[in-house]
Amino acid sequence: MRLDKLLAHSGLGTRKEVKKLLKKKIVEVNDEVIVNPKTHVDPETDSIKVGGESIDYQEFVYFMLNKPQGVISATEDHVHETVLDLLEPQDSLQEPHPVGRLDIDTEGLLVLTNDGKLTHRLLSPKHHVNKKYFAEVEGVVTEDDIQTFKEGITLVDEHEEFVTMPAELVVLKTDKSAKTSKVEVIIQEGKFHQVKRMVRAVGKEVIYLKRLSMGDLELDPKLELGAYRPLSKEEIDLLN
Ligand code: URA
Repeated sequence: MRLDKLLAHSGLGTRKEVKKLLKKKIVEVNDEVIVNPKTHVDPETDSIKVGGESIDYQEFVYFMLNKPQGVISATEDHVHETVLDLLEPQDSLQEPHPVGRLDIDTEGLLVLTNDGKLTHRLLSPKHHVNKKYFAEVEGVVTEDDIQTFKEGITLVDEHEEFVTMPAELVVLKTDKSAKTSKVEVIIQEGKFHQVKRMVRAVGKEVIYLKRLSMGDLELDPKLELGAYRPLSKEEIDLLN
């Protein structure tokens, strides 16, 4: 990659500011002073120093966010705050994007990364990555509903019918007088409003939804709503 891009993505300023740094002759690549911003460098093998300090550049960034309600899972929007607006400027430099979408009123686990291959793998319908949700439902969930989720539910997407893959519905608690249920739902796809539509198909309504896990990666219970942190090496491995 270009040296000026690497330095800018490492938090050393805009491309323009980085050019000024280079002009000052304080940037070294493999102990040689470099002034040309277009110089090609390999962050894996080249030693890059600015003012004698080593730059530790990571090509890919991975964050776990506990998405709050009211923000949308997009990179930009004219009306609503996006999940990217929750990141510190330093963490946005490498242009992470959300892996999949959660509805504006859904909370919970959202991975943000600039690793396009990982995103593709996690979202590809071929890979059947399980997504686990906690939901509060208006209505009392029955054994029949559990069976229906297991068998698959016919939904219509842009005039095209499809049957959902087997999904697990587990009742955690029912309140028969209030006619509400607390459940866990595990789905393998990630169709638009999928959990809400599946619940609606059995005659109930989701009133609260939170994603708890994606594949083997679980939401860190210590993360407050709206907070995020980098994934550990072990957590990144869980997604691969
Ligand atoms: N299913 C939904 O209905 N909404 C989400 O945000 C995620 C899954």
